[in-house]
Amino acid sequence: MSETVSANKETRGFQSEVKQLLHLMIHSLYSNKEIFLRELISNASDASDKLRFQALSQPELYQGEADLGVKLSFDEKTNTITVSDNGIGMSRDDVIEHLGTIAKSGTAEFFSKLSEDQSKDSQLIGQFGVGFYSAFIVADAVTVRTRAAGLAAEQGVQWHSAGEGDYTIEDITKESRGTEIILHLREEGKEFLSEWRLRDVISKYSDHIGIPVSILTKVTDDEGKETGETKWEQINKAQALWTRNKSEIKDEEYTEFYKHISNDFADPLVWGHNKVEGKNDYTSLLYIPAKAPWDMMNRDHKSGLKLYVQRVFIMDDAEQFMPSYLRFVKGLIDSNDLPLNVSREILQDNKVTQSLRNACTKRVLTMLEKLAKKDDEKYLSFWKEFGLVLKEGPAEDFSNKEKVAGLLRFASTEVDSSEQSVSLASYVERMKEGQDKIYYLTADSYAAAKNSPHLEQFKAKGIEVVLMYDRIDEWLMNYLTEFDGKQFQSITKAGLDLSQFEDEQEKAKHKETEEEFKSVVERTKEYLGDRVKEVRTTFKLANTPAVVVTDDMEMGTQMAKLLEAAGQAAPEVKYILELNPEHDLVTQMADTADEIEFGRWVELLLGQAMLAERGSLEDPSQFLSAVNKLLVK
Ligand code: ADP
Repeated sequence: MSETVSANKETRGFQSEVKQLLHLMIHSLYSNKEIFLRELISNASDASDKLRFQALSQPELYQGEADLGVKLSFDEKTNTITVSDNGIGMSRDDVIEHLGTIAKSGTAEFFSKLSEDQSKDSQLIGQFGVGFYSAFIVADAVTVRTRAAGLAAEQGVQWHSAGEGDYTIEDITKESRGTEIILHLREEGKEFLSEWRLRDVISKYSDHIGIPVSILTKVTDDEGKETGETKWEQINKAQALWTRNKSEIKDEEYTEFYKHISNDFADPLVWGHNKVEGKNDYTSLLYIPAKAPWDMMNRDHKSGLKLYVQRVFIMDDAEQFMPSYLRFVKGLIDSNDLPLNVSREILQDNKVTQSLRNACTKRVLTMLEKLAKKDDEKYLSFWKEFGLVLKEGPAEDFSNKEKVAGLLRFASTEVDSSEQSVSLASYVERMKEGQDKIYYLTADSYAAAKNSPHLEQFKAKGIEVVLMYDRIDEWLMNYLTEFDGKQFQSITKAGLDLSQFEDEQEKAKHKETEEEFKSVVERTKEYLGDRVKEVRTTFKLANTPAVVVTDDMEMGTQMAKLLEAAGQAAPEVKYILELNPEHDLVTQMADTADEIEFGRWVELLLGQAMLAERGSLEDPSQFLSAVNKLLVK
């Protein structure tokens, strides 16, 4: 891959993902050019954070707070903008790793989804986070000069690329520590060669940055004429946003800060900023994004929380402070109780961590509750993006189960839509007199749920049923046993009892029919033997002759499918066959004296019921042959 040009200069090819990213970026982000400044200032600020952190154990690395800053200048003659910092810098290996490859796993897969529809790319790419490479939106060549903190001046490195297939890298002498990025502007980027334009954009993107961001300005005399001299002018307040007073921070500042820490281009949905003193002394600033990140369901998805201790940046991906089912939360925690030399290992079983985690979890759940109360539409847009993740909550977080349950949304027979918009609280409000259970149904898809024969009596009696069709749902229901004091009852389980909704007359009639039907039930069970767990009569059906249900304690169909799909051995589900004695097919079967023909009827009914429940049959040909023989007759 590399070809040596001189002793230390080599040309290297970009990883193919980088090439794709560069191409897409230049083509889809040109309408949002100025963001390159946000990304570069953001990186420079991160580099300073990292230096400060490293200096905790190596104090010789820098001389103190006043030292750090980001500087921007431009030159009309050379058509360049330079962004420089005196942060941590990069070694030669760092440069190759960070500016030639994209380390994130799943990137190739992500890109394969892009570019069929270019108009959507900018959005998607926004979620991906373009970072340093955004320089190529305005530049047709970029030079990076950098030196890692602690290395000698001769151990500087220069990286240069025209943003096509490759880049060069060579050793240089760099007097100062840190990184300098020189953008050689393309025609479309020249609008940034203007002091007011730069100042405008920089102030927008640097207000929340905790170190000084300065621009090189031309000095003018009293009459406004340029004197030919220049001076550095600090543009921002250089106070970390979260340390400021809530009431003084504008929404735009919160939004920009979110973009700085999250790599997201879109505005966040909501946020909460809290300073807490007392037993624990900390500040948290937590955001809920508007869109799910592309890799949220990946196993190695990184948490979006940063940990600061006494305003010093300590680490990214501080996953210890948030349960996994809230992994979409971005933001930071700044603790005054943890030691500065805290490591991931120390965080693992630490009392402070535990109590901050509990507090932050509650905070996020409360934030979501408030959102749901205040703005239904916004909450549903949150649910669409993150509902699946939140459904992991009841299993993971026992102590907040009820709170999480309150945040769940489902489809239901009450609304004629696959959209999951019904809360359990609203279900409970609509419960019928005498109803003490929350009825639900799990199925493969919304259509299968909505048209399930199990719903027939519920429809007839006007009882609402929660319709669940996400893969995770049956698993979720293993952990969610009640809400607001009401038990959940699957309507495809054997324990379902609707007698409370029947009047005395109905009850008496059912009892009578059941008696009459006893022999048919026995005959059916005899024919089926071990193939079913039980056969019985049901009155919950209207237009369907038979259904299968599972025992309350037994694994349900969806759960078994989930295990199978995950490659795990699922115990065989033993079904109970329920016959509707009022259906014509069932009465025909009952009237059949011939044992062979009776068997065919049973095959037909069981086969149908299994198809409706599982979508497949163990022995389709047995079923078909029985059906065909009945048809011929
Ligand atoms: P991200 O910032 O999201 O990690 P970038 O593409 O912006 O992605 O940067 C990739 C990496 O390059 C950074 O994580 C960092 O390690 C390194 N880097 C970029 N800019 C600088 C800088 N100014 N100083 C030191 N390292 C930098």
